[in-house]
Amino acid sequence: MTSSVIANIPSLWREMSGGRSELPSLQNDRDTDVVIVGGGYTGLAAAHRLIERGVATVVLEANRIGWGASGRNGGVVSAKVRQSFPAIAAQHGLETARSVHRLCHTAVDELEALIEALGLTQAGFQRCGNLRCAHHERAFKSIADEAEWLQRALGDGDQRVLSAEAVHDETGSRAFFGGVLSEGVGTLLPLAYVEGLAEVLVKRHGLALFEQTPATGIRRTDGGVSVITPGGEVRARQVILATNAYSGQTEAGERIRTRLVPFRSSIIATEPLAPAVQQRLLVNNRSYGETRRMMRWFRKVDGRFLFGGRGAFGKHDSRVAFDALQRSMISLFPDLANVKVAYRWSGHVGMTLDALPHVGRFDDRMVFAAGYNGAGVSLSNYMGRLAADFSLGDSPDVSLFGASNFRRVPCYPLREFGIRLTAGWYQLLDAMGR
Ligand SMILES: Cc1cc2nc3c(=O)[nH]c(=O)nc-3n(C[C@H](O)[C@H](O)[C@H](O)COP(=O)(O)OP(=O)(O)OC[C@H]3O[C@@H](n4cnc5c(N)ncnc54)[C@H](O)[C@@H]3O)c2cc1C
Repeated sequence: MTSSVIANIPSLWREMSGGRSELPSLQNDRDTDVVIVGGGYTGLAAAHRLIERGVATVVLEANRIGWGASGRNGGVVSAKVRQSFPAIAAQHGLETARSVHRLCHTAVDELEALIEALGLTQAGFQRCGNLRCAHHERAFKSIADEAEWLQRALGDGDQRVLSAEAVHDETGSRAFFGGVLSEGVGTLLPLAYVEGLAEVLVKRHGLALFEQTPATGIRRTDGGVSVITPGGEVRARQVILATNAYSGQTEAGERIRTRLVPFRSSIIATEPLAPAVQQRLLVNNRSYGETRRMMRWFRKVDGRFLFGGRGAFGKHDSRVAFDALQRSMISLFPDLANVKVAYRWSGHVGMTLDALPHVGRFDDRMVFAAGYNGAGVSLSNYMGRLAADFSLGDSPDVSLFGASNFRRVPCYPLREFGIRLTAGWYQLLDAMGR
């Protein structure tokens, strides 16, 4: 690796990571068994699995490692998908809900196992739990019922219902009507994790990983594929597309791009909190989320308060959107009224039509994993691993996450309009407490 300046988006994570050396870009043609396009959690987890199975692998990353969602996210490690498990059971039956639930929990276990096996202590992984805070009495009843259902129908003993008073004692906010604590999940430091993973795979396992190497096209060849980049082509038997919500960068990502709706998700991080405020807010240092459809989440890192949320924030960051996030934070936590915001950043999450992630084959030479709907820290790692298995000809059981359910977005050019309409509708329902 040669040393260089960091060409990556500014964020608290970037500041905390302190920078790292740059990896080379591809400068010649290469032959390998599997080529992976995209060097986020999905792509690197796939690479790790292939190395474990003794398969020659090349990873191509268009930007720097951690440039995509894997270096920008909130670091909330969850064991869920956007659809609730009771809703999945109602639509697809109890056995299917059970298998999706199992996949989500396996994803957290696999993430922890990977971090431990590779000694990635810099990732700061902790099973500190997540507290879901109800923004309305009706929402409280609904999450309490869901917790009871999870215990009864799926044997999930990780959930604990907390009263409004208990949620106030823990969060320091009077805005909530109660909450549900999920104990088995946790948090990590997103960029430190993805950078650490890349470094171990390159330095310890000899992974051929190229930064600033966009795949500009993919062609079928006799018995394989050829992935074209500005500096050379990579010939392989199989290609794994791991470009998720950033699939629009070149036409190589087309088959994922047309199946996802990218939604902007934004984060603000305050200046370090005064000791008295520090001791009042989020005292158990978990991750926290709200029940609103346009969900806000929060956690403390490095003595600062982080507050994030999804919204119809358009193609680019805007000060107006970040200011709205700050107002929302202050309305929940009036203690933060005079605390300055030090960092603002955002990124794209990839939403799917069925609100579920997908992994599998596009054809006999192309495998993919994508569409985590904003809950991909643990799932992208697990599904990257499963994508590697698919690329070697295996057919792991992935329940509803299979390729046949990964449908194209109809009327794709109208998606921006659709996002705004949906977000506006959700905001209205949230405001009405529905
Ligand atoms: C602001 C934000 C907050 C989030 N918070 C959370 C959270 O708290 N918890 C949670 O579970 N999930 C969260 N997510 C979602 C989570 O970060 C993602 O699901 C996960 O990181 C997806 O990983 P990935 O590797 O599939 O995609 P990415 O990390 O986006 O990686 C895709 C990579 O592909 C590269 N690429 C694209 N096209 C090409 C090409 N043609 N050639 C080569 N490379 C290419 C891109 O440069 C990019 O680096 C959040 C996302 C965002 C944006």
